[in-house]
Amino acid sequence: MDTPIERNILSVQNRIADAAAVCGRSPEEVTLLAISKTFPVESISRAASAGLSKFGENRVQEAENKILHFRNRSEFEWHLVGHLQTNKAKSAAELFDVIHSLDSVRLAAKLNQACLEVGRKLSVLLQVDLGREATKFGARPEQVREIIETLSTYEGLRLDGLMAIPPFYEDPEQVRPYFVRLRELKDTLESEQPGCLGRKHLSMGMSHDFEVAIREGATIVRIGTSIFGSRHYG
Ligand SMILES: *Cc1c(COP(=O)(O)O)cnc(C)c1O
Repeated sequence: MDTPIERNILSVQNRIADAAAVCGRSPEEVTLLAISKTFPVESISRAASAGLSKFGENRVQEAENKILHFRNRSEFEWHLVGHLQTNKAKSAAELFDVIHSLDSVRLAAKLNQACLEVGRKLSVLLQVDLGREATKFGARPEQVREIIETLSTYEGLRLDGLMAIPPFYEDPEQVRPYFVRLRELKDTLESEQPGCLGRKHLSMGMSHDFEVAIREGATIVRIGTSIFGSRHYG
């Protein structure tokens, strides 16, 4: 079966490089996270042959089989980009390397406890709800400081930046204000408390809007469709 995954990856990498060049950034500042949800391990293997090693999933249960399948590929890094329920915190702590969807003090407490139990330190990003109307998850900007304060006392978690899933607009220019807001929030928090966001990641931008996200400072772009093709939900 012929699959264009390799070609898609090259094309996305070129687009990342072009978008970075436009705003004077180095393409190395932008991590390509391949969102493999709904796709089988074969697709992930092909993406890995084409040079990718960072994969994102949005459900703990679906991800578990894939992560276990690739457990001897120690170069792989697994990111949870979907909502995490507190009752899955333990599994998430065992399986993933980075959690993009930390969005409450309650979840932070559960996840920290799980990390201490399994003896891992997880990198987490704070998911911020910038839209209020369209997104179901994420902390409100006014809750962010309390969560950061809490995280600073936790040994099991390391806060490394912010993440957002803006509302969907066909025209990526309409998403730009959300990207700007996330970047400005990062700058404000870092100026109030230097170092509070660790590696200062901005996880933003998906298949249809990642170039705009890069121009607004994205350091991690989460790309599914443009790499693996359209998703079919059973
Ligand atoms: C599915 C998903 C993506 C990838 O979306 P595409 O439009 O297929 O690139 C990115 N981020 C999150 C949180 C997702 O759930």
